[in-house]
Amino acid sequence: MRNLVVSLAVPAVMLALTVIAWRHATELPELFRALLPYGPHIVAVGGMALAWMFNRSRAFFILLLLALVHSVSLPALAGRDIQTLDTGVVYWSTTVLLPLNVAVFALLSERGILTWRGGLRLGLLSLQVLLVAWLARTSPDWLDGLRVYRASWPAPRVESPISDPAAAVFVVAFVVLLVRVLLRRMPLDGAILGVLASSQMAMHVKDDGLMVSLFLTAAGLMLILAIVQESYHMAYADELTGLPARRALRENLLKLGAHYSIAMVDVDHFKKFNDRYGHDAGDQVLRMVASKLARVSGGGKAYRYGGEEFAVVFPGKALHEAETHLEALCRSVADACFTVRGKGRSRRHATASRGKPRSGRQKQVSVTVSIGCAERNERNVAPMDVLKAADRCLYWAKTLGRNRVCS
Ligand code: GH3
Ligand code: MG
Ligand code: MG
Repeated sequence: MRNLVVSLAVPAVMLALTVIAWRHATELPELFRALLPYGPHIVAVGGMALAWMFNRSRAFFILLLLALVHSVSLPALAGRDIQTLDTGVVYWSTTVLLPLNVAVFALLSERGILTWRGGLRLGLLSLQVLLVAWLARTSPDWLDGLRVYRASWPAPRVESPISDPAAAVFVVAFVVLLVRVLLRRMPLDGAILGVLASSQMAMHVKDDGLMVSLFLTAAGLMLILAIVQESYHMAYADELTGLPARRALRENLLKLGAHYSIAMVDVDHFKKFNDRYGHDAGDQVLRMVASKLARVSGGGKAYRYGGEEFAVVFPGKALHEAETHLEALCRSVADACFTVRGKGRSRRHATASRGKPRSGRQKQVSVTVSIGCAERNERNVAPMDVLKAADRCLYWAKTLGRNRVCS
């Protein structure tokens, strides 16, 4: 799922709601306020279990980080004293290390949790806990300088307990993660950006322990929702083409009304194409065909049925109506040319791919598809019967010479 709006909408709405809740903190229901201090840990435990199940190591370690921040620095954030530890140092270190760690964990690739790389990440977090504890015990002088450092700034400032060096780390992390979201457009990346903003708010409201919990809970929830979003998408979308997969087709067939048509689409001589140009070029063809199918006119919805076969469902459309749109689809696939690198794995020429050599080993090729279409009628009542009838028509389209629509 590569969609900028989907990736950013959930964290943005959650952050907005959390800010509203913070502004109206005194009006929050008593039960909510009573449960809130446990929020970050409940969300962290639940989220880490989910991240473990779906092998999302980045989310796992960021949730662990949020739980750590809540337990290690909450007493300091809430203004309570811990004997022998300088709570101001704990707070300052947290404001610097939190955005830094969120950014680092976000940029690392998914490498599992119970692996040596997972162990390394755990070690990195533990080391930082020890470092903060040591700094808070010793309170070195150089740290005092950093803690009160204020950069000269021409514009008005937002009054915040967050020091300028910590704010700078946050800004850099935010920009880096924003660029990543714009490039990758994945929900988990959007959620991590939301985590960064929400946890920064937690640092900003440091003296109000309840609101710290509120923002850290929201941050964890953003990650949980992103894991669910991505997993849902994994279950229903085809990875190669981005079209909805057969599972989605099966479920959507059950929602159809009394009038509809179903088409089965199959790439012609695809085995030969693969043999001639290689599997990667074959994948490229499937993506091209899928992009044409996704834009089929007449309200048709395309699915990848499996391999080089696709299904298109036209809700509310009679056979003759669907046919017009399928003819156009068939032509648009045949007319589309694209470039592949000839692999020369086979000397045989794919009959359906009209290869015209260009410069070097690059070739301009095109493929065709055959389409079978059927509508719901007295003979084919159940959606699966209509689909099978469309498959029989597809067989006829192949027999009659391919690159055509049969019904
Ligand atoms: P026809 O015109 O009769 O449909 O012939 P065909 O060669 O397309 O049909 P056949 O069923 O013999 O071969 C289908 C081929 O599709 C075989 C397989 O290698 C290829 N294929 C299936 N899925 C994929 C895929 O995901 N990627 C690539 N590159 N090839 C695939
Ligand atoms: Mg086939
Ligand atoms: Mg085929």
